[in-house]
Amino acid sequence: MKGRIPYRSVDPFLGWLPLLVLAGVVLTSCGGPRESPHDVNVVLVTFDTIRGDHISHLGYALPTTPNLDELCEQGISFHRSYATSSWTAPSHGSLFTGLLPSQHGCHMAPWEEDEQILPLSSENMTLAELLSESGWATAGFIGGPAIAGGIGFSRGFDLYDDDWVGPQRLGGATNEKVFAWLSKVNRPFFLFVNYFDAHGPYEPDPSLTYPFGEKPEAVEPYQSFSPGTAKRQKKTMPTDPEEIRHIVERYDQEIFATDHFLGRLIKRLKELGKWDRTLLVVTGDHGEAFSDQVGAEVFWGHGHMPGRVQSHVPLVLRLPGDVRAGEVVTRTVSNQDLFPTLCDFLSLPVPSNVRGRSLLLPITDGAAMAEKFFPGRYGNTFFRDDFMVRSLEEISSGHVRETMHDLSDPTGKKLIPIARIDDPEVKMSDEDRARAREVARALLSARAAHKKMRGGVSPQFEPGDLEGTKLSEETRRKLGALGYLESE
Ligand SMILES: [Zn+2]
Repeated sequence: MKGRIPYRSVDPFLGWLPLLVLAGVVLTSCGGPRESPHDVNVVLVTFDTIRGDHISHLGYALPTTPNLDELCEQGISFHRSYATSSWTAPSHGSLFTGLLPSQHGCHMAPWEEDEQILPLSSENMTLAELLSESGWATAGFIGGPAIAGGIGFSRGFDLYDDDWVGPQRLGGATNEKVFAWLSKVNRPFFLFVNYFDAHGPYEPDPSLTYPFGEKPEAVEPYQSFSPGTAKRQKKTMPTDPEEIRHIVERYDQEIFATDHFLGRLIKRLKELGKWDRTLLVVTGDHGEAFSDQVGAEVFWGHGHMPGRVQSHVPLVLRLPGDVRAGEVVTRTVSNQDLFPTLCDFLSLPVPSNVRGRSLLLPITDGAAMAEKFFPGRYGNTFFRDDFMVRSLEEISSGHVRETMHDLSDPTGKKLIPIARIDDPEVKMSDEDRARAREVARALLSARAAHKKMRGGVSPQFEPGDLEGTKLSEETRRKLGALGYLESE
């Protein structure tokens, strides 16, 4: 293990004291502090593969997420939250470390032809390690193999349950294990639960009653399909609107199932008397595309160059005592902000290389970044307000292709040529042009700062710099069954 990153200054807990007092969490009747933030349980739930625009409280027409919607009424909901990646492992790596994938090291090796997942770098502190060292009991329960313990995700957990038969584990089976652990834990805890139901294959749990759609039969997803992979695999992506509707409906039922299992977890925490002192975060790791268009291309599944469909995820933060209940934040935020947010609330030190910010403080200038590594290429996407800038860099030549997109266009077709924002031949209203100029300037300068921070692309991607891990046969088999390793 390399040396650990030092801590940076801590956001003072005193800033939160009045809110906790209001919530009845901190003070006893004699006025002295009895319980501290260290008496708060922390539960981090990830809804795997859930795109933000299929969440009811984010505007979806179907009642896919009644429990999450109810949770919004008890906490803070973030309407423009973006994952740092378009697939499971790098995105969870950011949740666990507060770092971008290029910093925490867990992503697809860009020099490998046969696709290899690099592990979470051990030089960075994970949330579970920090909480474990600070006295919390820690346990993680996952449903998908991309965040298996062997890839570095189990560090800091007293128990990391990544063992099941078959490619994935659904929410009901995961909850059984979670509930067994919850009934035994007798001190403040950090619990991580990854509900994997909405990930392909789409097999809505037949034991549930769904408030919409036809019989919840299984359908095959078109996983990780871009025009390039479809061509290589000699497959045709569906274009029949009825077939697409049928597939999307099964996916929506899986979101409903995921939300159902979240509801069961909350109910269990209440039954056990642990709810009042629990901080609950629910978010996603990436979305899922269904014939969605970006520019001139059509995509299915996830794991591509990040964009709105692949990176926009729900984020709801419920504080103990329902402090700040019903608050809505519309500024752009990132899932790498959660680590410093939890440190802020729990009065814990933040590792000095963590660049996210506490979401409990006012967000006046919101932005987020997502990354994707391809063989020989590095892509990143900046999000801010209704715009995103996507940059794809050839690692060997440094050549960059850049496009700016208007996220308010639901078709995803509207591109803004950055180099021609000032060209009168590009048709835009004066107001749109002024906003586009401002966002382009901010995003491009943020991108330059990021590049400077990592010292350019090339040095980071020498195979010797990051130690690869050979995945176990079992993990490779599960990943292959879920379409992660295209060569399998
Ligand atoms: Zn995922």
